Amino acid sequence: RTDALTKHFGGVGFLKKSPVVQAVDGISLEVKRGETFAIVGESGCGKSTLARLLMRLLEPTSGEVVFDGKDISHAAGPDLTRLRRDMQFIFQDPFSSLNPRMTVGKLIAEPLEVHAPELSAAERRAKVADIMQKVGLPAEHAGRYPHEFSGGQRQRIGIARALITGPKLVIGDEPVSALDVSVQAQVINLLGDLSRELGVTLVVIAHDLGVIRHMSDRVAVMYLGRIVEMGTAEEVFSAPHHPYTQALLASIPAPRPEGEDRMTTLTGEMPSPAAPPPGCRFHTRCPFARPDCKTTVPDLSAVEGASHQVACHHWQEIDAPAGAPQQAPH
Ligand code: SF4
Ligand code: MG
Repeated sequence: RTDALTKHFGGVGFLKKSPVVQAVDGISLEVKRGETFAIVGESGCGKSTLARLLMRLLEPTSGEVVFDGKDISHAAGPDLTRLRRDMQFIFQDPFSSLNPRMTVGKLIAEPLEVHAPELSAAERRAKVADIMQKVGLPAEHAGRYPHEFSGGQRQRIGIARALITGPKLVIGDEPVSALDVSVQAQVINLLGDLSRELGVTLVVIAHDLGVIRHMSDRVAVMYLGRIVEMGTAEEVFSAPHHPYTQALLASIPAPRPEGEDRMTTLTGEMPSPAAPPPGCRFHTRCPFARPDCKTTVPDLSAVEGASHQVACHHWQEIDAPAGAPQQAPH
């Protein structure tokens, strides 16, 4: 759970003259145990910063991150070591995060040396063989080196490393965006299946809604440091209310049902997070912007039912995209 979580970069001490970058601005969300939660947005929207705040790789400027009932935003020492076991990270580029001189078996076992030093060598090997089998890597490949594996297999190694300590939460920052499109779905589905099987809570950061469409329980859409829409995957994908979400959905490179070409398309650049527009931060690119959008910040508020929330003054007036069921015809 996060509460009014904010991360501003710069603007302190030596950097007084540099602009304050509002990378993450007042984000409150709650990830439920065991669910797969996706955070989506264009690069520069602050989603990686949010992921690093959740992992306590960064300290927030204000607000808090609560994990297992404890505020971890300033955790240090033994608390931090425990967190590193309970929360694991899967990086974007599996190759750069793997030491090329270590065998795959050693790489996968490495987190155990820190977090489970009591294990014997045989116990460690058994755990490695078990997790390799779970991620679909032949156990007899444990003696090979990372360069002998394909990109998709290397990300399976990354997943095995993340899961071997038995974490409660795994955060993947664009875990498949460096992979060929053809293997993205395989790897993301594997991640989803494993988290379900092992009861691990999964937070996936992505810039592409298509990638996480079928594996997430809930989705938060970020724009310039704020959440603009949040709900179950079903709510966000089949009845998006925020013009930005609609535009992101329209940009998914996939055959679309007829009529969906009426959807908003994104034009223009995302403004710099160092100088976010006042009011609704999306107003400079929003085809539906009205005068009040430039002055008044829209809060996230419930749409239908408490789970679907949108931050737009005018979502009710904006036509839902064709193809999205509004009201079932009788
Ligand atoms: Fe567009 Fe206004 Fe809604 Fe922002 S609040 S998304 S500018 S209509
Ligand atoms: Mg990023």
